[in-house]
Amino acid sequence: MKNLANPAVIKEILSKNGFNFSKSLGQNFLIDERALTEIVESAAPEKANVLEIGPGFGTLTQRLCERASKVVCVEIDSAAIPILTDNLREFDNLKIIHADIMKTDIKELSDREFGGASVKVCANLPYYITSPVIMSLLNPSLPIEDITVMIQKEVALRIGAKPGSKDYGVLTLAVGYWATTEIVTIVPPSSFMPPPKVESAVIKLTMRKTPPVEVKDTDMYFKVIKAAFALRRKTLLNALASGLGLSKDKILEVLKNADIDEKRRGETLSDEEFARITNAL
Ligand code: SAM
Repeated sequence: MKNLANPAVIKEILSKNGFNFSKSLGQNFLIDERALTEIVESAAPEKANVLEIGPGFGTLTQRLCERASKVVCVEIDSAAIPILTDNLREFDNLKIIHADIMKTDIKELSDREFGGASVKVCANLPYYITSPVIMSLLNPSLPIEDITVMIQKEVALRIGAKPGSKDYGVLTLAVGYWATTEIVTIVPPSSFMPPPKVESAVIKLTMRKTPPVEVKDTDMYFKVIKAAFALRRKTLLNALASGLGLSKDKILEVLKNADIDEKRRGETLSDEEFARITNAL
């Protein structure tokens, strides 16, 4: 079996097939054994059902197939499909789907391919769709157990940020509501072919059984968070009045009931404090 993480092997595949990397599809293929091993070790796919997004030539897919019970991968690029199929022809626990993950009904796919059993997601994600893909996977109606993905380091830092830091924001709280987060490792541009402009990171998100805070209305919780961060430099009083379309008197009353100083800025509040505001509203 070819070592698909070897740059010489990738170069040979490129020239043999006349394949050109597509920048717009985020095609930066992994050529780093250490990073590959860290993703797979962290995903722990032993005997699991795995959904991979963007398999490319199958570098990560190969490692997943060696350990998982079944791997389903979704690849958008028609030029990569025959190469992927040929590279991984020895695996009978692999299903390749030629589709756009953004247009794929993941519930329907997991019911059809995995009979509704729990699924692990693993991917070296195309960076142009990192946040929408992660947010669409963090849906409690999907049978997803955990998500181990390579993403831009900057996005990983935002997901794992603490209140009061510059990276803390809507993404931190939105991901943190559904999953616990762990930054597994940082990966330099030289680990990819061609190298991306930015550093990358592998993160693992494990779906929570229950949310970390109790809110009476989840939609309202996220509305409050969005309003607080939309005017990041303003006080909570001004940001919430403007973002929620309520009078300052009303917001003052809500903040008093939630026992939160109206002069604070949203970026200093914990999830528990946002929950108190939501419930007071
Ligand atoms: N898994 C390979 C690896 O690690 O070397 C390739 C990773 S590359 C960063 C991202 C892959 O996602 C590419 O193969 C690209 O064609 C594919 N891709 C891009 N947009 C996609 C989409 N909307 N749906 C499915 N696959 C997509």
